[in-house]
Amino acid sequence: MCEHQVSGLLGPFATPMFWIGMSNDVKQLADNCDVCQQTKPCNSEEPLQQHVEGRTPWEKCGVDLFEFNQKYYLVTVDYFSNFLKLTFSPLRPQVL
Ligand SMILES: [Zn+2]
Repeated sequence: MCEHQVSGLLGPFATPMFWIGMSNDVKQLADNCDVCQQTKPCNSEEPLQQHVEGRTPWEKCGVDLFEFNQKYYLVTVDYFSNFLKLTFSPLRPQVL
């Protein structure tokens, strides 16, 4: 990692120097640096992954817990039919 990337990662609070336009100057320096260009992280967007929905009812479900008015609920959704089932829980769910 070259020093341009290190200074970029540390941010303005890690350096005793700051000047107006510093961010642009550092970006321009890094844009013209071969090492920075070869080792910069790739931020290309990943394509959305389509999930396979269930072929039969309740083959694939989504579940989530939520709290409303100090009561706890489990919501279950069937991917095949979009049927939604709400289950009341008298106890606070524990995350293991
Ligand atoms: Zn560099």
